[in-house]
Amino acid sequence: MKITDVRAYALEVPMTEKISAPIGFPRAADVEEGVFAAYRSTLVFVDTDEGISGVGECMTRLSGTALRDICLTLKPLLIGRDPRDVELIWDIMWCTMLNRGHVMGFYQEAMAGIDCALWDIWGKHAEVPVWRLLGGATNPKLWCYASSLRLRSMDILRDEIDQHKANGFNAMKIKIGKDPMDWRSEMKTVEAIRKHAGDDIMLMADVNCNYGHDLKTALEVGRALQDQGLYWYEEPLYPDDIDGYAHLRDHLDIRIAAGEADFNKNSFARFLRRDALDIIQPDAARTAGITETRKIADMANAFRVQYAPHTGSSSNIIMTISMHLAMYATNFLIYEYMQSNWNKGQENPLRDELCRLPIKEFKDSYLTIEDVTGLGIDINMEVVEKYALP
Ligand SMILES: [Mg+2]
Repeated sequence: MKITDVRAYALEVPMTEKISAPIGFPRAADVEEGVFAAYRSTLVFVDTDEGISGVGECMTRLSGTALRDICLTLKPLLIGRDPRDVELIWDIMWCTMLNRGHVMGFYQEAMAGIDCALWDIWGKHAEVPVWRLLGGATNPKLWCYASSLRLRSMDILRDEIDQHKANGFNAMKIKIGKDPMDWRSEMKTVEAIRKHAGDDIMLMADVNCNYGHDLKTALEVGRALQDQGLYWYEEPLYPDDIDGYAHLRDHLDIRIAAGEADFNKNSFARFLRRDALDIIQPDAARTAGITETRKIADMANAFRVQYAPHTGSSSNIIMTISMHLAMYATNFLIYEYMQSNWNKGQENPLRDELCRLPIKEFKDSYLTIEDVTGLGIDINMEVVEKYALP
């Protein structure tokens, strides 16, 4: 089997109205008009001479056309190769820009889309699911949490919590940290959420890096969350602040989680060597695909660190890819089952229409995946054509 073509599409669904940043975010007011102006995704298809095609996704916060063009630029390196040589092809792509320092960022996100498409082809050709290629059904049922509650009025939050519970979730994440100066009033809302949800619901908090400038606030909030029995404290600091994360882990009992903004096994290894995290959250649409994410999860296992895949900000493609990785990883903890869009008033066709999730059953906060070959992703090309940028 040989690769014959690589096709890539930058999809963009503009917001019908301007929205403010839905999450705490450093300099949110200054960046929201760019970052949160559209739902975005970059899709990659790899075709073969046996008529089998695979699909993957590149995480796209901005400039999907740049990701699309990187994927297309890599095409000559792939043509004629056996797509099942995933390690070799990954290494060729990695080495192409390695000595230019492109070991993070857009280049890795472009590699991610191609790499996942190769695994999809391999699975389809072998007529097995990708989780089988990875090592089998270590976790035949995936524990899930609802992602995410945003701090708003308790009237709205009570309804959301009740809805998640009615849908079968026993774990939920709360986005905090919108106003680092006013964290005490946020903690009052977290306390009200805890009270309404009940002690049998597991809660986690996610800051999206917004205490990055202030380690003391990060510590104080961590203690407050710990006192309320939250399970983990996610991304309080800037993504590369290894010393800061190590400090928090030394001074807090609540589990420290991070990794959605990280890119490769070498950068994750620096966190692990410092014992800076309890839970890692790589996103396979960012960390250069399934090939690299599997290594990151396995490496974390050796450091007694658990794996909780990040799936937000992308389409159902990465949600599905993450299910396969979660099925396999021995240190898998919990799956981020996205339940909300950036814009509460606008559905996201990249979630709702592009492809469906191959979920056989979701019950008592656990999902089981359908019997699929490859990744089990069936793309609606009408959605691709409708939202593809020229
Ligand atoms: Mg997060």
